[in-house]
Amino acid sequence: MTIEKELSCILAFFSFWFGACIASFLNVVIWRAPRGESIVSPPSHCPKCGASIRWWQNIPIISWLSLAGKCASCRAPISPRYILVETLGGALFLAAFLKYNPVYPFVWIPMVWTLLVAWIWIALMIAGSFIDFDHQLLPDFTTVGGMVLGLVFWLGCSIWLCVSGGEWTLANFFGFGWSVAGLALGFGLLWFVRWLGTMVFKREAMGMGDVFLMGAVGALYGPVAVLFTLIASSVLGSVVGFAMIAMSKAKLGRFTAIPYGPYICMACLLWIFCGEELVSWYLSLLGVR
Ligand SMILES: [Zn+2]
Repeated sequence: MTIEKELSCILAFFSFWFGACIASFLNVVIWRAPRGESIVSPPSHCPKCGASIRWWQNIPIISWLSLAGKCASCRAPISPRYILVETLGGALFLAAFLKYNPVYPFVWIPMVWTLLVAWIWIALMIAGSFIDFDHQLLPDFTTVGGMVLGLVFWLGCSIWLCVSGGEWTLANFFGFGWSVAGLALGFGLLWFVRWLGTMVFKREAMGMGDVFLMGAVGALYGPVAVLFTLIASSVLGSVVGFAMIAMSKAKLGRFTAIPYGPYICMACLLWIFCGEELVSWYLSLLGVR
């Protein structure tokens, strides 16, 4: 094995573990942020018996398994969602590392930033999706945070190109322009869909949070990602929506609120990890390529 390969293996393991630890913290955010509670104090405790959770009972994935999903003092069941979110966080951080592996070519600085931004965005999407599932509400730190993250990242890339090239040209700002165009398209498109839906159904068809979330997708990944995410999220949402209606016929009315945010996030993840492959597969189906 070459040194790059060994380093990659170690960093891949670290990526999974780091993602699981971040997701463990996100579990706290998902529970406390929508309730207006502080995310730092009081320290984690069992909601049933109030026993505080020791550090060795708070190790991602491992603790839940070793406690068999039960509180150590009162044996009250701990939701399997905790281990699900932690595993999801680990898997997505690892996937992002494999996608933007900064070791090849050996420590390429911009790739480190790309990976870091992907990790932050994945964390924001996990927290936002689960909060949206629970409360039909997308937190600002996901939607506005994503937009700011995208704009700052692309502006930083453009400035870095100018500084490293020693020349301030307009061409270096293409990335930033692409990001602004993506934000405008994502926001504008969903704002229009929301307006149209409200006109047709005579009631709020979509929350403003979804409009901001699509703006964030555009600011981070550009206008093409917006179009892909819009199509893929509607397909995913319809499939799950019809499945839910089929499974529980009486419970779901025509206007039962189904949060759209998680589907935008799932579609955005599809774009990040296999967007290019899916687009070229679709084009080959049409005979374009
Ligand atoms: Zn307990």
